[in-house]
Amino acid sequence: MGFYALDATKTVLLTHMNNRICRLFNIEYPLIQAGMIWCSGWELASAVSNAGGLGIIGSGSMYPQILEEQILKCKAATSKPFGVNLPMLYPDIDKHIDTIIRHKVPIVFTSAGNPKTWTQKLKNEGIIVVHVVSSLKFALKAEEAGVDAVVAEGFEAGGHNGRDETTTMCLIPLVAKRISIPLIAAGGIGTGRGMLAALNLGADGVQIGSRFVATPESSAHQNFKETILHTGEGQTQLTLKELTPVRLIKNDFYKKVEAAYENGATTEELTELLGRGRAKKGMFEGDLIEGELEIGQVSGLIEKIMPAADVVQEILMEYRAALSDQHTEKYTF
Ligand code: NDP
Repeated sequence: MGFYALDATKTVLLTHMNNRICRLFNIEYPLIQAGMIWCSGWELASAVSNAGGLGIIGSGSMYPQILEEQILKCKAATSKPFGVNLPMLYPDIDKHIDTIIRHKVPIVFTSAGNPKTWTQKLKNEGIIVVHVVSSLKFALKAEEAGVDAVVAEGFEAGGHNGRDETTTMCLIPLVAKRISIPLIAAGGIGTGRGMLAALNLGADGVQIGSRFVATPESSAHQNFKETILHTGEGQTQLTLKELTPVRLIKNDFYKKVEAAYENGATTEELTELLGRGRAKKGMFEGDLIEGELEIGQVSGLIEKIMPAADVVQEILMEYRAALSDQHTEKYTF
């Protein structure tokens, strides 16, 4: 369905196919749900795709057999396009690639690694490949590697993130100016106004993670979902840059990390403190004290747990209201 917008002199009918991201993925709205470990399985991905966005299964926390089951369940729950997020650090990546190809997953978002490694193989199978970056330098490398689109993710984002702390506000125009393939903005976006701002900065679409964690369809533990509602401004931190930088809630585990830094911990000591499976413990098993609770700065704006389809609709309604606001006095000077 289209809607009308004023462009100063004329009224134009906007259909979703005017948008490069909608065309690329064959979806209704350029709104993508981030593939997040322990939080985004088939229930969330299919709900977002059914609502007209693009749902993504986060495969980084799934053993190969689990990913296969998740893909099959997602296919049964939606006839719309959906994707799989594939972190390059995943230990059994060959098996995931094999599963994705065998089950003809239409779209793959790769992250945390070199886009040259898998892009051509996936594209040879007719799969649309998008790579997630946190800097202009890596956006250019991704375009050169032949990906179909880039997600540029700013410092505000939850979970794994870049070391350079470039904010979405600065990153998107920098990247938009230099690449010609479609650009998806991520990091700090959780509202319709945020979506419009990202498009105004030069993005063609947005990727949203944190808001979709706080949905009944997300596989995150209820303790984690409820904690997000009380995580205000200043209560998340990007840390552990010596290992893999990650933004998380400042809980007891984070305080131990902070204390370790104050005591001059070495990389080996930080690795030992982090241990294994902290993300699972926090986000999936609901251990709010010892677990890693990965969420973006936008958690300060999340007030309730609501169905994924309602999140999509709320964002779009606010986007459209904000778009028509742009013709009000405030913007005329
Ligand atoms: P850890 O090394 O601390 O733990 C590995 C976790 O992954 C365990 O909980 C394990 O589950 C699970 N897992 C799933 N498949 C495998 C496999 N084939 N081999 C070993 N473990 C597996 O890593 P993290 O929890 O920090 O991250 C897990 C993965 O997700 C990594 O590949 C990472 O790159 C990726 N990732 C992490 C993000 C983050 O922000 N932390 C963001 C995006 C991707 P079990 O305990 O049941 O054995």
